[in-house]
Amino acid sequence: MSVKGFNLIGQAEVAGSNPALWGIAAATGERLEPGFGGATLDDLDRACALAREAFNPYRETSLETRARFLERIAENILELGDTLVERCMAETGLPRARVEGERGRTMGQLRLFASVVREGSFQDARIDRAMPERTPLPRADLRLRNIPLGPVAVFGASNFPLAFSVAGGDSASALAAGCPVVVKAHSAHPGTSELVGQAVQRAVRECELPEGVFSLLFDSGREIAQALVADPRIKAVGFTGSRVGGVALMNIAAARPEPIPVYAEMSSINPVVLLPGALQERGAQIGQAFVSSLALGAGQFCTNPGLVIAVDGEGLQNFIRSASEALGKVAAQTMLTPGIYRSYCHGVHSLESNARVQPLAKGLAGGINQGQAALFMVAAEDFLDDYRLREEVFGSSSLVVRCANIVQVRQVIDVLEGQLTAALHLSPSDHRAARALIADLELKVGRILINGFGTGVEVAHAMVHGGPFPATSDSRTTSVGSLAIERFLRPVSYQDLPQALLPPALQDSNPEGIARRVEGQMVL
Ligand code: NAP
Repeated sequence: MSVKGFNLIGQAEVAGSNPALWGIAAATGERLEPGFGGATLDDLDRACALAREAFNPYRETSLETRARFLERIAENILELGDTLVERCMAETGLPRARVEGERGRTMGQLRLFASVVREGSFQDARIDRAMPERTPLPRADLRLRNIPLGPVAVFGASNFPLAFSVAGGDSASALAAGCPVVVKAHSAHPGTSELVGQAVQRAVRECELPEGVFSLLFDSGREIAQALVADPRIKAVGFTGSRVGGVALMNIAAARPEPIPVYAEMSSINPVVLLPGALQERGAQIGQAFVSSLALGAGQFCTNPGLVIAVDGEGLQNFIRSASEALGKVAAQTMLTPGIYRSYCHGVHSLESNARVQPLAKGLAGGINQGQAALFMVAAEDFLDDYRLREEVFGSSSLVVRCANIVQVRQVIDVLEGQLTAALHLSPSDHRAARALIADLELKVGRILINGFGTGVEVAHAMVHGGPFPATSDSRTTSVGSLAIERFLRPVSYQDLPQALLPPALQDSNPEGIARRVEGQMVL
């Protein structure tokens, strides 16, 4: 397989006739061939029509067929070998080890969802049998299962070109749920997108599924992306990216004659709270670990620690000294796109030009498109007073908020918007304060962690990568981990259906052998 510059619509390779877009080499700013002709509204119409047509046959496939399909996608991605790895490295500036690691994670996610499909409990099958003799009123036979929502539009992330893009977490969970997927490729990695798209397209063919289960479109402007969300055949949206972009798509989805859910993961500054006992015990050590997390991947992680909240004192001074020293040695790193680099520089400049903010340290300067790490400090009163200081600076920049006491720490937490993660650094002497802070943080974040940093998101059953707005558009769910499948399902109740008309999950014989809740009790 090779990069050809085509939209993938069902099984067809289509040269888009709208203006072309090109991949850009992150390290040099040069164009990478070939150009990708932008999809037209007719192309979009075809992709959505095929997805609608595929929906019923696809959702009726056996659990085993669907699981095998997800595994096949993983195998096909691996078969792309160095063609994929090298194109992805060129388009994103990410090093080989990171790209290969991310490929492994992408395959792991697809396999996780295959196991979720085989296991079957995502259908949440429930059976309450009829009680014809019940008085004063008989009870009908009631059975419930989850069904997929319908075709899903997926917008991949710039910062996870494999694990949160064409065959990433959103696509894997939607396909696992039984939803066809139409992906709008991220313009930051079009070649990577096409290669992975070819791997999915081939898996559709190999598993003899209806062709509309998967399509991939390139958009040279905003028209196709917006029309995709507005299309009546699309029933949900998965998105990872900026707050502005996510909110624009949420507004389009809400204004449709039939509004649909948008699962957007957007902006988070991931507060790290340093408690006095921990600072006293190991302030310098925490400072070093913090800088490692801050600088990881040029800080281009949604869980990057962009805010540190701590009580002033000798421990905090030790933290600042060691973090500043470590940060001063951090080499500048190539950022994903010139746009993300510019927006990072703008964010750092805003902090530098804010008279209330004290610069603490800068990393080493770099070349084209290379972000220079930065650390700042502000007094809690000033932080509370200036909402601009709570905005995400996507990259390796962080702000330390110096508090007088724990009461002020809680005030600072109180003004924060919704976040993906919060980390608490503590020692046993901090447990009392931590208990109150955990209760505060539960209301703000999707994941609370102790003595660590939020970067590094395990793909697991108990993971939540979500949180209140603007971390995400819907705090009731997650975009990472097996629970993500629930975003694309809805419950249907069946009353008094004869066995022959019930779906397999609800038949008395339980042909799929899945766990079910019968009369309120789980039956394995
Ligand atoms: P983005 O600009 O929001 O783009 C994400 C996707 O949405 C892309 O496919 C983009 O299309 C599309 N899009 C954006 N705005 C749109 C609109 N108004 N109408 C239709 N489609 C739209 O995000 P990004 O390029 O990945 O990153 C930019 C910024 O997002 C970063 O600087 C950072 O602040 C933030 N970010 C946050 C996270 C996080 O997880 N918190 C992750 C990544 C990025 P195009 O490809 O055509 O632009």
